[in-house]
Amino acid sequence: MIHVGINGYGTIGKRVADAVRAQPDMEVVGVAKTRPNFEAQTAVEKGFDLYAAIEERKPQFEEAGIDLAGDVEELVEASDIVVDACPSGIGADNAEMYREYDTPALLQGGEDSEVVDGSFNARSNYDTVEDADIVRVVSCNTTGLSRLIAPLQEAYGIEKVRTTLVRRGGDPAQSGRGPINDILPNPVSLPSHHGPDVNTIFPDLDIDTLGLKVPATLMHMHSVNITLEDEPTAEAVRSLLEDERRTFVIPEWIGLDGAGAIKELAQDAGRPRADIWENCIWGESISMEGSDLYLFQAIHQESDVIPENIDAIRAVLGEAKQEESVVMTNEAMGLDT
Ligand code: NAD
Repeated sequence: MIHVGINGYGTIGKRVADAVRAQPDMEVVGVAKTRPNFEAQTAVEKGFDLYAAIEERKPQFEEAGIDLAGDVEELVEASDIVVDACPSGIGADNAEMYREYDTPALLQGGEDSEVVDGSFNARSNYDTVEDADIVRVVSCNTTGLSRLIAPLQEAYGIEKVRTTLVRRGGDPAQSGRGPINDILPNPVSLPSHHGPDVNTIFPDLDIDTLGLKVPATLMHMHSVNITLEDEPTAEAVRSLLEDERRTFVIPEWIGLDGAGAIKELAQDAGRPRADIWENCIWGESISMEGSDLYLFQAIHQESDVIPENIDAIRAVLGEAKQEESVVMTNEAMGLDT
């Protein structure tokens, strides 16, 4: 059994905790939180041991009637690996603690690639992080792009990637984010940080990215143009992407016209939190003009990195080969359903 600690129990951390619990070869040692709130209460109700991330705030948990199992250092010491899902920048601060306890750790996409030993995407570079101390599971957008780029590069070769990312303004519970009635080029000048971030997975890839922010919370949308070295047919590209394990090529008949309908499907299917772990690629949008591929894909920002975190645990600890891990993760989480 791999004993996993989770430091930071918010949008990403709580999903990772449930996904770890679902794996046949892993168990959750506990989760750490900074303050007692509804998420801390839910963690306890779900039977996760709760650890205090900040010692001085322990009395606040007592006042709220929420039991603590100890301090975050004890969680780190008791874990074979820690998944750090703290807000951007805090993971980098925590890295020192993980090194001190000699516990490998996964940071998330909000952290700078400079602070880690390697960046990770299960489809693209699974074998590169074994025995690393601190690894970064790349962001939701970089994960979505990497899943697309890896098979296309292997099958046809890639000359250049150009992508416009239409990004949700905030997650549904982030009441302070925006815009609420605007369309923002973000950033205004090129490149957006996404292209360089994809280069942490594909160092030699030629990629330009542009970003926009819109008043939406459900998903991100990518408008993708990839100049391939070969000239496959659109049908061949479609079939290649259909065969991937973490892509859902949306069939024409199904009536999914946007992110709202995709979320509705996830709810109807009984997916936990209406999560969509796969890239959602509109089959009809897959088009070839000479060697230029065009398509639209939607990415569920809150959940596409969760199976990647699970695979990263096995990859860092050398517990499974790529294919074995991806299949195990998908089956345990219900990705193919
Ligand atoms: P979040 O704010 O939802 O959750 C972070 C949690 O960490 C909160 O519960 C917060 O109270 C807690 N926390 C704050 N300081 C802490 C500390 N010192 N120790 C322990 N816990 C602490 O954030 P999130 O959306 O889950 O993002 C976490 C990371 O994942 C970031 O790097 C982010 O960039 C990345 N990420 C987020 C998304 C997304 O869309 N939400 C997608 C992919 C990656």
